[in-house]
Amino acid sequence: MLTLTFLGTGAAVPTIDRNVSGLALQREGETILFDCGEGTQRQMMRYGVAFSFIEIFFTHYHADHILGVTGLLRTMGLQDRTAPVTLYGPRGAQRVLNTAISLGIERNKFPVEIVELRPGDRLAREDYDIVVFETEHRADTIGYALVEHTRLGRFHPERARELGIAEGPLWGRLHKGETIVLEDGRSIAPADLVGDPRPGRTVVYSGDTRPCLPLIEAARGADLLVHEATFGSEELERARETGHSTAAEAARVALDAGVRRLVLTHISPRYTRDAPELLAEARAVFPETIIARDGLIVDVPFPD
Ligand SMILES: [Zn+2]
Ligand SMILES: [Zn+2]
Repeated sequence: MLTLTFLGTGAAVPTIDRNVSGLALQREGETILFDCGEGTQRQMMRYGVAFSFIEIFFTHYHADHILGVTGLLRTMGLQDRTAPVTLYGPRGAQRVLNTAISLGIERNKFPVEIVELRPGDRLAREDYDIVVFETEHRADTIGYALVEHTRLGRFHPERARELGIAEGPLWGRLHKGETIVLEDGRSIAPADLVGDPRPGRTVVYSGDTRPCLPLIEAARGADLLVHEATFGSEELERARETGHSTAAEAARVALDAGVRRLVLTHISPRYTRDAPELLAEARAVFPETIIARDGLIVDVPFPD
């Protein structure tokens, strides 16, 4: 499973309908947070995101994306956590995040590691990578793509039985791409009973940004793009001045990148809860669009 839970979907300030930025990604029992605005820990409780995670990825250090980390780490300390937590962010990570986690007089009871990332960095995990790309927001900002590795092709057990290969370790070896020799001397190649490798899933998070080429490239063919849409087209000039995107611009990025689905977030408090005008504007360009609200859960299935 690969699931996103939108913890906060508003821009700049919390409102009754929307908290400030926070996004939880859950995959195979692992939870990763992207951004951690004020009040994120309470949103996690509300929407059932466990505190057992070990990593937070920050897109930048505007207050609406970071102020929640202080309280969240304190609460984890009160829960007698001992496992380390790693905080990632663009240039300035040591200075800003160290300040944020040192506020107050309590000491962190568990190790916190701070890692500064640059566009182009690729963090390799067992079966996925986190790819860091440059964004454009009048500050040091980055976006993130979670890119799953290619999966093994589908194994066809009925074909194996037809070939007289008994279920057991040989199946595993064939599935992983090994050619085997049976006791009767026959040589069996994986292609005889394993399909082509299947692509993994890609999820991309823009953070705050103007539409930009590195983001389009990172999102090329992605299964899901989470893009900020702070404004509607009537505020295009303001979007340009403040380094944000309009809903139509975000939809254009989704179209150009050829993604499957688009979720808009970071909605300005000037719009109503459902922001129908932003939705209409975006869908005119890219129909597979929804607008996030706090608590929204989006599953990202395998394409096949
Ligand atoms: Zn913001
Ligand atoms: Zn910002």
